[in-house]
Amino acid sequence: QKEQWAKLKDQQTVTADGVHVELAANIGTPEDVDGVLRNGGEGVGLYRTEFLYMGKSSLPTEDEQYESYKAVLENMGDKPVVVRTLDIGGDKELDYLELPKELNPFLGFRAIRFCLERDDIFRTQLRALLRASIHGNLKIMFPMVATLQEFRDAKALLLEEKDNLLSEGVQVADDIEIGIMVEIPSTAVIAKQFAKEVDFFSIGTNDLIQYTMAADRMNEKVSYLYQPYHPAILNLVNNVIEAAHAEGKWAGMCGEMAGDPIAIPILLGLGLDEFSMSATSILPARTQLLSLSKERIASYKDEILSKGTAEEVVELVKSITE
Ligand code: PEP
Ligand code: MG
Repeated sequence: QKEQWAKLKDQQTVTADGVHVELAANIGTPEDVDGVLRNGGEGVGLYRTEFLYMGKSSLPTEDEQYESYKAVLENMGDKPVVVRTLDIGGDKELDYLELPKELNPFLGFRAIRFCLERDDIFRTQLRALLRASIHGNLKIMFPMVATLQEFRDAKALLLEEKDNLLSEGVQVADDIEIGIMVEIPSTAVIAKQFAKEVDFFSIGTNDLIQYTMAADRMNEKVSYLYQPYHPAILNLVNNVIEAAHAEGKWAGMCGEMAGDPIAIPILLGLGLDEFSMSATSILPARTQLLSLSKERIASYKDEILSKGTAEEVVELVKSITE
């Protein structure tokens, strides 16, 4: 099997019925890029930038960040790199910011909510990203977007910093796609409205499942509710993909679900364009996708989405794909 994977390393991911999907990787540091390339990643679907801010006593400078983003972009060559802006809060704390303790950190002051208020910190990151943009194929996405206004505000800050850099004589790529993570149900529900304004979606199922099922992703007592194949999750995912395609945009997924062998056929059938997973899952996923027919699974789409429970979904999908 290892030999077969090695052969697949430099191949595209094409299903049995000739459909290309993109298999990308989730990374946390520039050092991770090596593993992405060794495992045949077609891009980086999620660069979690929190690590730049964690494990130190003060904020990373613009130059420090620029060097990290540039390193990832250069090493990935012309392959796409989706960088997620700072997503602290919830399970990811930063001691030196001395943020007030909250009763419900997962429902609190985090990610884009924090960045829009502390726009000094946010602008520094945006400038570093914009400066790095000329070194590769950069796409930028905002985490935890709950309203269109948040997206508009974040995008406005990005464009403002772009103008600032240009007027300072600094080069910036002019084709950077700007997208969002879909990980809050409100956004998944009105994906149609978002699709008119964003360039792409990346579905963050780790949080989308937590918020849809009202089950803390860190709490083992309620982990039985953490159900990726629950029809509610699949209907939201389908809504996001359909909304993207209706506007000619692409939809990816960067939550754990994207690399899950049971979920992969379902997501293929729903029309997901990009699957972003841990690097070591890429070659197994590519192997699996080679023998799946998107059209066959898609012909059961309504039936899958109409099931009442996750178990029923899994049973149906197994019967289709075996
Ligand atoms: C997600 O929520 O699915 C996701 C990819 O982001 P994180 O796990 O970093 O919250
Ligand atoms: Mg998340």
